[in-house]
Amino acid sequence: MARHIDPVCKLCRREGEKLFLKGDRCFSPKCAMERRPHPPGPARRFRAKESDYGNQLREKQKVRRIYGVFEKQFRRYFKRAQQMKGVTGTNLLVILESRLDNVVYRLGFADSRAQARQLVRHGHIAVNGRKTDIPSFLVKPGDEIVVRDKSKGNAYFKERAQTITDSKVPGWLKLDTSNLSGSVIAEPTREDIDFTLNEQLIVEYYSR
Ligand code: SF4
Repeated sequence: MARHIDPVCKLCRREGEKLFLKGDRCFSPKCAMERRPHPPGPARRFRAKESDYGNQLREKQKVRRIYGVFEKQFRRYFKRAQQMKGVTGTNLLVILESRLDNVVYRLGFADSRAQARQLVRHGHIAVNGRKTDIPSFLVKPGDEIVVRDKSKGNAYFKERAQTITDSKVPGWLKLDTSNLSGSVIAEPTREDIDFTLNEQLIVEYYSR
């Protein structure tokens, strides 16, 4: 399965903002955006003004990188969003939020989406009682996501069980801290997206 192997902090520096791809490190002084908040590569004295196309591309890349999705799959999500009822940009975000790796992250089982993806791939997560190791699996209202019984004895999940809280869990999910499980109680909405973005630019990018 393809995955991004370059240093992820470069992605934040390229986008010119924190994308929070590394968990706790992102909130520490070690964050590359605190130390080198300029794009990777030779420093330029004068930065060219971004064109409309440049702005659209950057917004698309930012969202793609936050969710850790490759271009081919992102484009597939966009096509699917276009075919759904409602606003295409919002539909796209709903699809991305519904990915299992994102849900595992949002429930607090992992500190980053990349870590959540690894937990899913390694078979620690079950959806509706069945082991599900596909990070791109899309959850829907009524689904129950649990850390599998055999994984709960791992040092990682034992420690997680001590610290996990529902303080950052979005309203469309419900966390049961005692059981390391969560359920999807509604579809995510635009308001549930916890970073700044302009999805209309992404729609314009793919509509060229
Ligand atoms: Fe981005 Fe986190 Fe790296 Fe900071 S530490 S540059 S927020 S991935």
